[in-house]
Amino acid sequence: MPFEADQHADLREALRALCSEFSAEYHRNHDEKATYPVEFIDALTNAGWLAAMIPEEFGGSGLGLTEATIVMEEINRSGGNAGHCHGQMYNMGTLLRGGSDEQKARWLPKIATGELRLQSMAVTEPTTGTDTTKLKTTAVKKGDKYVVNGQKVWISRVQHSDLMILLARTTPLSEVKKKSDGLSVFMVDLKDAIGKGMEVKPIRNMVNHETNELFFDNLEIPEENLIGEEGKGFKIILGGLNAERTLIAAECIGDAWWFIDKVGDYVKERIVFDRPIGQNQGVQFPIARAYVNTSAADLMRFEAAKRFDMGVDMGAQANMAKLLAADASWEAANACIQFHGGFGFAAEYDVERKFRETRLYQVAPISTNLILSYVAEHVLGLPRSF
Ligand SMILES: Cc1cc2nc3c(=O)[nH]c(=O)nc-3n(C[C@H](O)[C@H](O)[C@H](O)COP(=O)(O)OP(=O)(O)OC[C@H]3O[C@@H](n4cnc5c(N)ncnc54)[C@H](O)[C@@H]3O)c2cc1C
Repeated sequence: MPFEADQHADLREALRALCSEFSAEYHRNHDEKATYPVEFIDALTNAGWLAAMIPEEFGGSGLGLTEATIVMEEINRSGGNAGHCHGQMYNMGTLLRGGSDEQKARWLPKIATGELRLQSMAVTEPTTGTDTTKLKTTAVKKGDKYVVNGQKVWISRVQHSDLMILLARTTPLSEVKKKSDGLSVFMVDLKDAIGKGMEVKPIRNMVNHETNELFFDNLEIPEENLIGEEGKGFKIILGGLNAERTLIAAECIGDAWWFIDKVGDYVKERIVFDRPIGQNQGVQFPIARAYVNTSAADLMRFEAAKRFDMGVDMGAQANMAKLLAADASWEAANACIQFHGGFGFAAEYDVERKFRETRLYQVAPISTNLILSYVAEHVLGLPRSF
């Protein structure tokens, strides 16, 4: 375990105690029925963990991204899936950095008590995908309101949230100097939106992840729900996205430790050819390699989180942590399923469930290719490819 990971023993102990109240069977049943683990998320909320990043003056714990990543890591390490609640952590970053004092006072205390959930962020669109600055959802100012039209896809936890952060274009692409200009961030109060200009259509998918298509037809958002300056939303959302990448890196690391522990225990016990399969170096080496790569990814995750907490640029570290951790957890997942043989495919071992869950992070919230492209262009200064 890297030195930095040792610094938070009390935090980890408290989380492990809470997570241990929710068995593998509990998570498996929710996966099988595609239901939301309400009791687990309520327990995390009531213990204050999902308000970790809210400053103390607004009723939160005032902890940093570093501690928030540990919360996510421990959930996944326990056999759970932080995808049910991670939105609350990174969306907070957007509100904390972009929101006015009035907006923070309006929403943060209620989020801290659990009265309001800020679990959703709507960026991705069906026709433009990763090419975010081309997104087509528009918000047009009319009097003291913005009127929103367009469509989003893969927007998660909408049915288990009260507030949603929305990225929409307020100035047409043809009228801005830089393509990242003219985008704005809004806070959508979902009770005033669903059925009143916003429709939600759930998407059945490979993991138990509540995610949806959204359709906007003249949805009205009060002007006081604009976060930050109109037209400057891309920069505000990027701060949140970098926090998201770091948190998801930590979830992947939690998954990787889960896979490594699970397969380590199994290969010591499973006897084939009259000896434990873990005695074969062909079995040991992939597990050892996954351990090495997870430990290295963990260091980059702490580096990214530390830089975020210091308020210095951390785009490169957040992206690199996400890539390294997603690759390490995928490598650990493959070793785990492989050395469980046929049993890896049986639901009661939980390996196939965690395998499906960790696969998502090769694609979302940003694909591996797009991270490599970011590093090539923005870190190495190679020619822009798109
Ligand atoms: C379960 C789930 C939950 C999600 N939750 C949310 C959410 O809450 N909010 C939200 O806004 N979004 C969410 N997303 C969307 C997610 O962020 C996107 O799916 C992801 O960013 C990839 O975008 P895309 O699906 O449009 O893929 P595309 O942009 O169509 O890309 C497809 C693939 O092509 C490759 N590719 C594309 N362009 C290039 C290039 N220039 N060079 C090399 N390779 C390239 C990449 O490998 C990529 O994986 C979620 C997605 C899933 C599956």
